[in-house]
Formats: sequence, C-alpha cells, structure tokens
Amino acid sequence: MIDSSDMANWPARAAGNPTASAPRRNVPPQCEPPLPSWHESLASAIRNPATLLQRLYLSTSLLESADLAAHQFPVMVPESYLARMRPGDINDPLLRQVLPLGDELLETPGFVRDAVDDEASRIAPGLLKKYAGRALMILTGACAVHCRYCFRRHYPYANEPRRLPDWEPAIQALTADTTIHEVLLSGGDPLMVTDLRLKELCDRLEQIPHIQRLRIHSRLPIVLPNRVTDELLDLLTATRLTPLMVVHANHPREITGDCADALRRLVRSGMTTLNQSVLLRGINDSVDTLKKLSERLINLGVIPYYLHQLDRVQGAAHFEVDEATGLSLIEALQRQLPGYGVPQYVREVAGAPAKQPVGIESTL
Ligand SMILES: *Cc1c(COP(=O)(O)O)cnc(C)c1O
Ligand code: SF4
Repeated sequence: MIDSSDMANWPARAAGNPTASAPRRNVPPQCEPPLPSWHESLASAIRNPATLLQRLYLSTSLLESADLAAHQFPVMVPESYLARMRPGDINDPLLRQVLPLGDELLETPGFVRDAVDDEASRIAPGLLKKYAGRALMILTGACAVHCRYCFRRHYPYANEPRRLPDWEPAIQALTADTTIHEVLLSGGDPLMVTDLRLKELCDRLEQIPHIQRLRIHSRLPIVLPNRVTDELLDLLTATRLTPLMVVHANHPREITGDCADALRRLVRSGMTTLNQSVLLRGINDSVDTLKKLSERLINLGVIPYYLHQLDRVQGAAHFEVDEATGLSLIEALQRQLPGYGVPQYVREVAGAPAKQPVGIESTL
C-alpha cells in the first residue's frame, strides 16, 4: 500500500530497532529496555527483499525477481512478524504471504486490477456501500504488512480522503441514509491511523443517531501486536457504538507470542473479536492447518468468521485454491470442530447483495 499522510509526519528513522541501543534516562541498568511503541515498530519494519532474505538466512537467488515484483508493490514486514518465521525455510507459510515472487508479474486471464468492483459501490469519497445496513470507510491506504495476495493492491488510495474535513461528504452520506446501522473502518489498515484521528472520527460517527455499530477490519493485531494499546481499547470501548474487531490471520503460526497476547487483550476488553482468513495455496490449504488456526483462535475467544476464496486480483493467481478443494477442506473442518469454530467459506461476487457462500447456489 502507499504511505498515507499520517506517516509523513513521523520522524524519519534509520532501519533497525530504535530502542535497542539508545541509552535511556531513569532506567536502572539491570532493566530490559522498554518495549518499542507501535510507531517505532512500524518505522523499523523491513522494506526491501534483500534484507528479508538475509535476515532469514535465505539464498539471494530469488532476489532479482523479488526486486521486480517489489517494484510494483513494495515489501513491508514488521519485526514482530519476521520473528515468527522459520529461518532458512523458503516455504515458511508466513514468509510466503509477504515475499514478492516473479509469479506476481505474470498476466493471468480473469485476474484484474479491481477484482471486487469497489469503484461501482463508492457512494462518496472514501465510502463504499455494497450491502444493506452497512457501509465501509477506506480510512487510509497504509498497512503494516504488505500481503502479496491483497485484493486492494491496486486500489487508487491517492484519491481518498485523509483528514477529517475531507470526510465531510462521506459523513453526510451516512447521515442521509438512515438504513445504515454499521460503519466498517477498513483500508489499507484503519489502525494505521493515530488514536487522535480515530477518536475524532468516532466522535463524529457517534453523533449520527441511526449508527449502532462500529466494526474495525485490521491486520495490525496480528502483524503489529503492540498497536493494541490500552489507550486504543479505551477509545473503542468508550463510544456509544458497539465496537467489533475483525482481525486477519491465515495461519496458526501467526497466532503466537505477542500476537496471542494482543488477541487476549481485545477479547478481555469486551469487544466481539472475529477473524477472517484468505484461502491461500501453499499457506493454509490443508485440513490440519485450518483446524489448528481455528483452534488457536477459539482458545483465545476469537471466532472464525470468514474463509475467503481468493479475489482474482492481478498478480495473485499463484495463490488460488480451487473451490472444490476449498469445499472439501470446510467439510473436513465441520466433522472435527465445534460449529462456531468453522468459518463461512465465501467469495465476493461483484454486484451481489452479500458475500456468497461457496458451493451453494445463491437465491439472493
Ligand atoms: C465485505 C464488505 C462488507 C462486510 O460484509 P459482512 O458480510 O457484513 O462482513 C461491507 N461492505 C463492503 C463494501 C464489503 O466489501
Ligand atoms: S490484505 Fe489487508 S493488511 Fe494485507 S496488504 Fe491488503 S489491506 Fe493491507
């Protein structure tokens, strides 16, 4: 994704953990250095293929094609996420989600730039409405990780609002349409926006009487877990609106350590917390992996919500799993997990009134 204006104000920092060597006053020498803030973690994220391969002790033979692919959609990997990868394993399922490959440059028939027809549902700058009762705000184009399969990898973010005054037409559209009861904050990643700006927006949305729920779709609790601060939880749970969080994890190995702690904090704050995944070839297209993913989630109190069939976006064809395979995976999960542990297997069909269950002929 592109950098948003939020990031333009941040101090430039050299790569590397900025807190690791900086001496701090008032800290007794025997103490660990303080944990980095989420801004610091973002600033120290890996942003080029060479560093990514080097840090995992991988051969640089892939570098040339990785650089070419990264030219179209840059690399972005936070240290916390890197720490969960297995060094020396080119097939590591976390690495596969973020490593640019030459395959991305192949043109595949049927794979297009705007795979889900976002453009047709844009009712105001930054505001998409596809479904009854819900509208989605594209809060920023920035993300903390760049997922190679991302369906919005070509989205024209530069045209969307950035500051509160730019949101006025969207706020007016939300105010005028009394059928809208839920606002989704999406992007990019909406939690890339500072707490201050989130608060301004929440305050504004709260004043619209027919809006009842605020849903945040974010991958930050997974890839940049220190974004889940007490201040953020306070902000989201203090509004009149019922807050929901939809995180995005695709593999059980993503949900360890600081990420598991962040999910626990979300759940304990009282917020309904759901997960959505994308079915990805070579990453989570096995019963064992999907079952472990669901088990880790439900053990933490996070409900598996959707398993998405890959949107057919240009550059992502090598991640596609066919629907018959997807259906057989879901059927296997149904035999092995509690009902609430099985996500709904859906795909997005441009113009349809809801996400479509795969394998069921739609009667909507
Ligand atoms: C996916 C999506 C939603 C949310 O759909 P749910 O089925 O409610 O999770 C809402 N608006 C848009 C534009 C979407 O793409
Ligand atoms: S999938 Fe989500 S987190 Fe990943 S690049 Fe796309 S918008 Fe960002």
